Amino acid sequence: MSQAVRGQAVRGQEGPVTLHGVAVPALDPDALYDVTTENGVFTAFRPTGARRGGEHELWPGYTETHAHVALPANWDDTVEDPRIVALQYLYHGVSHVVDMFGFPLVADAWAAGREASPWPYPELVHCGYAVTATTDAAGRTGHGVEFPAPVHMLAVESDLDHALRANAERGGTFLKVMFTDGTEQPGSPVRFSRLSEKVLRFTARMAAERGITAVIDCNTLQETRWAYECGFRLFAHTVRDRTLDAADWKEFEGARFVSTLAGLRPMVMTGEEFLTEYSREGFAETQDVRNLDFVRGIEKPYGIEYGVQETRTAALADMRRNALAALGRGDLLVGTDSGNTGAYHGYSLLGELDLLRGDDPSLDPALRHQATVGGRRYIDELSGAPTGAHPLSAGADATYNLLHASAPDRPLSALPVRTVVRGVEIDRAALAREMAALRAAAQAPTEPKGIAA
Ligand SMILES: [Zn+2]
Repeated sequence: MSQAVRGQAVRGQEGPVTLHGVAVPALDPDALYDVTTENGVFTAFRPTGARRGGEHELWPGYTETHAHVALPANWDDTVEDPRIVALQYLYHGVSHVVDMFGFPLVADAWAAGREASPWPYPELVHCGYAVTATTDAAGRTGHGVEFPAPVHMLAVESDLDHALRANAERGGTFLKVMFTDGTEQPGSPVRFSRLSEKVLRFTARMAAERGITAVIDCNTLQETRWAYECGFRLFAHTVRDRTLDAADWKEFEGARFVSTLAGLRPMVMTGEEFLTEYSREGFAETQDVRNLDFVRGIEKPYGIEYGVQETRTAALADMRRNALAALGRGDLLVGTDSGNTGAYHGYSLLGELDLLRGDDPSLDPALRHQATVGGRRYIDELSGAPTGAHPLSAGADATYNLLHASAPDRPLSALPVRTVVRGVEIDRAALAREMAALRAAAQAPTEPKGIAA
């Protein structure tokens, strides 16, 4: 198919299109607007009166702020074809993705898929490979080594120089630093070696000098304190070994934290909880349904088998409370750690919103804001070329979801009423057919390859 034909197949109307009487809470929670788009960009937001309630809400597309596209979310440890991952995100209204390490493994396949796709792909920024500590005297490796993606190990300043160059060459635009020793709760075991204070300091300093935004992975309050003190302000998770009080929060002025409940919860879930979680709309249409057979066979949570059920359960409760406190400060970013087992691309981001909201619908506006406007601001910073533009302004890409008005009995995980990416309407049914076709092609028997000499 030629570029022109492909373009035609998906292009929305070229002339101006106006959405009448939609709420745009990110601009004004009480007003209705006529929103005009043309040639894939917004051209005007015109207030037309007061909101009565119940009107559809227009928000920027969701941003997944903590994903691992190249890690295996499936229970049989298979990694999804990146062409499927891209559509999984689009299907759920996720138009922007931050990959938090490992993306170079699938970068070529992603680029080829995007080139051939009739649908606009989600925009993605990545960090290349993470940096972590060297093996310590006790034989512990740095966090990240346990995943099927390489990491750069830092011992001296020139190691970081090498990592920054190698990541930049691979298209990485920010730095991901692994700092946790794996402690989940007070008294739980140390699992990983950790960067020394000296290395942590020069890492923060060198990144700042080169204008590279750094995101750091910490578990405990103490780790978060040290990292903050060395100059880090973006944290890949919320604190999990205690619930921060007002005095603790005073120490973290200007810090932002990513919520990752969806990615860490599968460890403690029962088979029944999995089946409930995977019964939401969109699962069967976007995910490998063999995962359902797998979780049906889970008799007890993995946390019990690995002896971490209690600590992980307590850690999740601390993480959620800390995430909601960050939300209250306007400092929460909504992510998932998707690519961890059972944390599916796209699907789990909407699930994360439910986990954060719990049974408090008064959180809906703030959660929607942070998952869209907050996420876009973040990805803009991580891109290495921030524009600072508001995603809902004339001239910005016409990338948005129309969502049902929030209501106490309506989960935030409800699929968008409509998803539009750079002016192109996303046809969920067509996406589902394409994902099924890609899976069928991958599972079809192939010629035996023989043994290479
Ligand atoms: Zn992660």
